[in-house]
Amino acid sequence: MTKSYALTVAEMDTLFEALSEKYAIYAPTRLHNGGRYALDDTILYKEVTKYEEIEWQQRSIFSMKEVLTPLSQTLFYFTEEDFKEAKLKDERELLIFGRACDLNSVKIQDQIFLENGGEQDYFYKRLREKAHFAVMQCDDQYDGCFCCSLGTNVTDIHDFGVAFSEVGAKIQLNSELFEGYFSDAQETLFEVSFPQENQLKVAFPQIESQEEYQRLRVHPMWEEYDKRCIACGKCTIACNTCTCFTTTDIFYSENQNVGERRRGCASCMIAGFDTMAGDHCFRKTVKDRYRFKILHKVYGHDARFHTGAMCTGCGRCDADCPELISYSQTLANINAALIEIRQEIKEGVPFHV
Ligand code: SF4
Ligand code: SF4
Repeated sequence: MTKSYALTVAEMDTLFEALSEKYAIYAPTRLHNGGRYALDDTILYKEVTKYEEIEWQQRSIFSMKEVLTPLSQTLFYFTEEDFKEAKLKDERELLIFGRACDLNSVKIQDQIFLENGGEQDYFYKRLREKAHFAVMQCDDQYDGCFCCSLGTNVTDIHDFGVAFSEVGAKIQLNSELFEGYFSDAQETLFEVSFPQENQLKVAFPQIESQEEYQRLRVHPMWEEYDKRCIACGKCTIACNTCTCFTTTDIFYSENQNVGERRRGCASCMIAGFDTMAGDHCFRKTVKDRYRFKILHKVYGHDARFHTGAMCTGCGRCDADCPELISYSQTLANINAALIEIRQEIKEGVPFHV
């Protein structure tokens, strides 16, 4: 049986003060005038020390993944003879506030960083092991959300659930870990609720064979993205399930034996990401890169892990593309292409790669 509490804003601030001794608390916050245009605000994940700093009304532009996989981080320092691991800037545990879709994305991030290819990503793991989660109850719909179509509207990854109220917050505690912080709080009847329906409904494509996949790769539906997509990478940097990164060595002087190695968030949409030695490039056109990104989410991830979509329907890619390219419409286009492809296969139409 879980316990639930009602706290005023002042009590929440006292709670945050107590929690902050052991936990660095991360949550979406509003940055006034920090948006794309003059006087526009933006919503980003930041460390918070007060309950009122949390933004409840709008979705964050970037997802909470940047807490576990920072946009830029130093991995180690090196000299010609030695190297030294970079320490974490903060030794405290992490308490991360997120919506159900974002919390579910942690399962996908875990697969990619911890269960892929037999080696665990050390730098992800050392942050992940510190992470605890609080799920934020969604009381509104956001532009482009379709979590209910993917079953990511509900999550079991959280130590407690929090609902915003006019006077403070209601909290449903799910783990004994945080119980001590609520010993003086007023108990109430409350159960965190999850969204049951989105305005946007998406039939996530199911590719049923290698032949369907290969025919889809060369389908003309991808042509339009060569003209429309500017390959800015914003959709992938904002996405809570994209994990591309790059590493760069920074040299402190002309002596290239002394410096540090940094890892930075990157994007398979940006030219040069897949360029190898000898200037060999796998995906030469924007269309190739867009198709790769989408089919990785629809097919490639599932082919590796057998757990379904590499997407939680958070809607950020739809909402944030500067060229108004709709990911959900791309999924609808794939479904239409698959109907054609299945008919071709049925009729025995020959196919050459
Ligand atoms: S789809 Fe949109 S956000 Fe993504 S790379 Fe293309 S233009 Fe940028
Ligand atoms: S692909 Fe789009 S909708 Fe899916 S998780 Fe990424 S940003 Fe969200």
